[in-house]
Amino acid sequence: MYKIIKKDGLAKRGRLETVHGVIETPVFMNVGTAAAIKGAVATEDLQQIKTQVELSNTYHLHVRPGDQVIKKLGGLHKFMVWDKPILTDSGGFQVFSLAGLRKIKEEGVYFQSHIDGRKIFMGPEESMQIQSNLASTIAMAFDECPSSVASREYIQNSVDRTTRWLKRCKDEMARLNTLEDTINKNQLLFGINQGAIYEDIRIDHAKRIAELELDGYALGGLAVGESHEEMYRILDATVPHLPENKPTYLMGVGTPANILEAVDRGVDFFDCVYPSRNGRHGHVYTNHGKINLFNAKYELDDRPIEEGCQCPACRTYSRAYIRHLLKAKEMLGMRLCVLHNLYFYNTMMEEIREAIEEGRYQEYKKQKLDMMSGK
Ligand SMILES: [Zn+2]
Repeated sequence: MYKIIKKDGLAKRGRLETVHGVIETPVFMNVGTAAAIKGAVATEDLQQIKTQVELSNTYHLHVRPGDQVIKKLGGLHKFMVWDKPILTDSGGFQVFSLAGLRKIKEEGVYFQSHIDGRKIFMGPEESMQIQSNLASTIAMAFDECPSSVASREYIQNSVDRTTRWLKRCKDEMARLNTLEDTINKNQLLFGINQGAIYEDIRIDHAKRIAELELDGYALGGLAVGESHEEMYRILDATVPHLPENKPTYLMGVGTPANILEAVDRGVDFFDCVYPSRNGRHGHVYTNHGKINLFNAKYELDDRPIEEGCQCPACRTYSRAYIRHLLKAKEMLGMRLCVLHNLYFYNTMMEEIREAIEEGRYQEYKKQKLDMMSGK
């Protein structure tokens, strides 16, 4: 059950109640691809860095260790010892970006595993079955992520097929949720809007999927190489045609600035690998911009990454020490940077929620953007 607590312009301050607890939105979901956040981050760390939702990748878990294995062990929550919400993606994005040779048919996609080359078939029903076995809180519909350089004709046909797939996802999810041995019988389903950079295709698709009364709606196929301005233009055009009284999720986005801009356009769910990926490379976020801890100027810097930050890294260690760990290739260096970056993102979401509640989102956004760009 989702409800809007407060609106400030188009920005939504919402709350989604799930069987695994409440999600306060806007929220940044922390990406743990194979049921762990890369950088040696443990489930117990997530409590300390204000994680609300963990996101795992269906394709990765299907290939290894296998969703049947996870089901036998009681589902993803029990497996990774996390009792709060988990969102699983549909596997579609990985099938289209990672897998080897693939063939798209009306029934689904035939492709080869990127691990061992084994042939796999995945369609809407299979994706729902796998996500049901994983027993995540929120499942994502199986869609096609066409190449951003595909022709308009290709995109239109692809979007039509994604709509047909979405209806099959909804039916299959409803069926699975009534089965006796289903672990999470309250699994939620979010649909995905596609249409590349064509506003009219996006709007038409948004209207069609809105009729299906899903638990939430995502925008997919953005942040795949188009400019930020183009992405904002698509959001301006499309979000007003998605149901306002449902969560709005912008998949795979993005930088702190992208999130601030998208919240302003009515988006309230996000996920992105940037904070963990950047952290693993010693790039850490601060309120005055991103810094590279490998830089020689931090050799004798005994300040924390960010003054006043309450994350596990900043509460205890200096930039100089973390820089040394990174240079010595000690795993702890990576881990501390990832923890700080996720804490930075999660804390920014907290600030965003507060600013919307207090009706000062515009002021907050400007201040945060100015500060981060060094103004
Ligand atoms: Zn910190």
